[in-house]
Amino acid sequence: MANPLHDTLIAPLAVSDRPFLHLADGRKISGRGFVGMAARQAGALVAAGLGPGDRLAVQVDKSPEALALYAACVMAGVVFLPLNTAYTADELAYFIGDSEAGLVVCSPSSEAVIAPIAQAAGAQVLTLDAGGCGSLAEAAAGQPSTFEPVDRSEDDLAALLYTSGTTGRSKGAMLSQRNLLSNALTLAQLWRFTDTDVLLHALPIFHTHGLFVASNVVLAARGSMIFLPKFDPDEVVRLLPQATSMMGVPTFYTRLLADPRFDQALTAHMRLFVSGSAPLLAETHREFERRTGHRILERYGMTETNMNTSNPYDGERRAGTVGFPLPGVELKITHPETGAPLPRGEVGLIEVRGPNVFQGYWRMPEKTRAELRDDGFFLTGDLGRIDEDGYVQIVGRSKDLIITGGFNVYPKEVELVLDDQPGVLESAVIGVRHPDFGEGVVGVLVPRPEASPDIEAVRSALMARLARFKQPKRLVLVDELPRNTMGKVQKNQLRDRFARLFLD
Ligand code: AMP
Repeated sequence: MANPLHDTLIAPLAVSDRPFLHLADGRKISGRGFVGMAARQAGALVAAGLGPGDRLAVQVDKSPEALALYAACVMAGVVFLPLNTAYTADELAYFIGDSEAGLVVCSPSSEAVIAPIAQAAGAQVLTLDAGGCGSLAEAAAGQPSTFEPVDRSEDDLAALLYTSGTTGRSKGAMLSQRNLLSNALTLAQLWRFTDTDVLLHALPIFHTHGLFVASNVVLAARGSMIFLPKFDPDEVVRLLPQATSMMGVPTFYTRLLADPRFDQALTAHMRLFVSGSAPLLAETHREFERRTGHRILERYGMTETNMNTSNPYDGERRAGTVGFPLPGVELKITHPETGAPLPRGEVGLIEVRGPNVFQGYWRMPEKTRAELRDDGFFLTGDLGRIDEDGYVQIVGRSKDLIITGGFNVYPKEVELVLDDQPGVLESAVIGVRHPDFGEGVVGVLVPRPEASPDIEAVRSALMARLARFKQPKRLVLVDELPRNTMGKVQKNQLRDRFARLFLD
């Protein structure tokens, strides 16, 4: 019997009595304890009727038990589907229905809202709270602390992660065991993770960064993690002396730089700071080095591909770049319309191929064909260039994706809601520079003739329909949207016009 992801990342933990998770309250969970927790959960999943290939949708607060649920899925061959805790009922209904999840694990506080949604989709519901209690924990308590992992191959699906959709609908990226495992092993080696590493983990675990990059790399290296429920600068400052490494989104680093306690002395023992999920401003990179003496290592990846590139561990970590393609990953820059490879230095679409690249979009063969070429190259939708020394630079996003605090917001999804509001003729949603979030979401509204939309009412309507991170931080009224001769809205002009909205 084989189950590569289990055998490589999880099985070694099962015989380790060293701490695997260090919690904020001082408690420690050993490798053996963690795997026992996962084994009991795996037993509970099977008892609930889930089998290999079935989907488990999970929307819970971050906790050791929530991470163990990922390991439980690997053991039971169940496809893990983590969901952002900010998603609203409407959004959840889509994910649960589209994925045909057999079971939904949610917080006890959202059970009343989720139960009818799950029932309509034919899914069962169990609960798990931030303290590890709930009906899942009760079901798991009655199960044995060992679980015989089911047979899986590297081509079998391990996870389904939804990305935001440019035209409203999110797409489920199907990730195989090989996709996750190859990336974990490559990154652990490239970034020199060992069993003496203690990674400060303050990222969410419903996203590829905190779930796969951080957790899988630590598992691959048999290291441990200081596992924080969320990013809180006070907690990071308190616990950093016990860490050797940290991974974060740029917002973490700008917030730490705003804290005078974050200095050379506090970080002197640290081995590595990694940044990704959104562009790290060259300015932040330099300020970080001035303050701490460390050069942040920036890497680039996405839900569909795991990680693609990284700045070097040894050698120059170049600000404003995402480094070189990872070993085993091919990266080329092509003409966005023709697909022809472009000469070094020119800006075009970034395409990648390798064992990290996903298997396609869940039940969307046409979308898959449009973005994943027959020869295995994936069209990332990011625009970039390769400089004279081979460093990859990301210069923009072809689809106007907004990244705010590390989360992706597709303007179209927000525009559709805004356009629905009384008195609104049309709208354009853009991202402009924000000192804290990298980009802040701005909704530009055009009133209907003779109407004056009630901004407060629009704001409340957004709250009910969109996750908080997608809601515009500002709504502004304009007489008309700038358009080109083809009738396309010129978002660049809007971005220029509102460029300083959050800066002044
Ligand atoms: P996600 O699927 O949520 O991980 O978002 C992926 C997108 O985030 C990529 O397609 C890029 O546009 C962006 N991204 C990730 N890492 C970086 C980075 N280091 N610099 C610039 N953009 C990044």
